[in-house]
Amino acid sequence: MSLIVQKYGGSSVADAASVKRVARRIVDTKKAGHDVVVVVSAMGDTTDELLDLAEQVSPLPPPRELDMLLTAGERISMALLAMAIHDLGAEARSYTGSQAGLITDSAHGAARIIDVSPGRITEALEQGAIPIVAGFQGVAQDTKDVTTLGRGGSDTTAVALAAAMGADVCEIYTDVDGVFSADPRVVPKARQVPFITYEEMLELAAVGAKVLHLRCVEYARRFSLPIHVRSSFSTKEGTWVMSPDAITAAIAEGRAMEQPIISGVAADINDAKITVVGVPDKPGEAAAIFRALANAKINVDMIVQNVSAAATGRTDVTFTCPQGSAQQAMDALQSNSGDIGFEALNVDDQIAKISLVGAGMRSHPGVSATFFSALADASVNVEMISTSEIRISIVTRVDDAQRAVQAIHSAFGLDADGEAVVYAGTGR
Ligand code: ASP
Ligand code: MG
Repeated sequence: MSLIVQKYGGSSVADAASVKRVARRIVDTKKAGHDVVVVVSAMGDTTDELLDLAEQVSPLPPPRELDMLLTAGERISMALLAMAIHDLGAEARSYTGSQAGLITDSAHGAARIIDVSPGRITEALEQGAIPIVAGFQGVAQDTKDVTTLGRGGSDTTAVALAAAMGADVCEIYTDVDGVFSADPRVVPKARQVPFITYEEMLELAAVGAKVLHLRCVEYARRFSLPIHVRSSFSTKEGTWVMSPDAITAAIAEGRAMEQPIISGVAADINDAKITVVGVPDKPGEAAAIFRALANAKINVDMIVQNVSAAATGRTDVTFTCPQGSAQQAMDALQSNSGDIGFEALNVDDQIAKISLVGAGMRSHPGVSATFFSALADASVNVEMISTSEIRISIVTRVDDAQRAVQAIHSAFGLDADGEAVVYAGTGR
């Protein structure tokens, strides 16, 4: 008997029929002799609808109230799921994040889990019941207010609970069969990856692959907790996210094939590019720019500084940040223009960041050559470049994003023979 935490995304519980279907799956797992803890997202597009509603009422709602509103979505699905399980003859009890012991800091909208004390969940299990926990929410340790973990945060609730309870696996149910070499909604010939390391999954999640919440992967790595990403619409084996050692063991036992050099290609179209034009080329300038941005709590991603023009002794500094913080970044730079000294600021939100991720890059030469040749052959212009040990990213025009991803995917021989199945289409 093992302890399994199952997380069902919004597309898996989109309507009454889906809730009943998921209930059956949960009860089957229990009947197979396992202890099951369930984490559930809001039904379908509920979170988006609640956000729309808030916007109609108030353009800038207080973050505390917005969190209170959004957490209602998960309360609906958890209670309905518990009812459906009851009708199948098993006992289920639903719990809010706060009741389940998910203690966070008080950063509304992006709270971090700082402690998990799942006493009531353990108790429910001991009494033979199936606990159903509302994903994406917790309670702030200091203010005792209800918080949310950021969009897609139910994955993190599930992994945090699984880690705290010593679960054997955390199963993340979504609308595709697992992690793919590219988003199957963009590249129909994307290939399902059977095994992927935490490190590769972290890089992919950070550069725009939306299949798993970034923090959930960080959490799983910290506790060496295996994640099994799979579809709730099929019974197929999904993708295992594990440590390199666990994957090596799986290969030795014949459960896995040799790891490929490249695990995937991802695109992120939510960044903006800001250029600080005509910055004096002297010590302390970059520090002044990025200090101003840090004080405004802007998350900067890629940075490029041009060679300065000899005639003027001035240079341009370009960086990317989330589109949502571009205006704040501009304001922060403008209001510090006295210290920084620049001639102009340009912002461009028509960009896409395309990234290639693979642990094999460390030991295989020629990956960059293939990557840039593929982009050249597809006439994709490269505006910025950044790399990590296992990733190459570029910035290009947003209109070229799909073509770029497809070209890179083909160039690395990742195209599958058949087309990937997308069961619901929303990716939740
Ligand atoms: N319902 C929340 C969202 O849509 C959390 C989640 O689904 O993980 O972002
Ligand atoms: Mg998700």
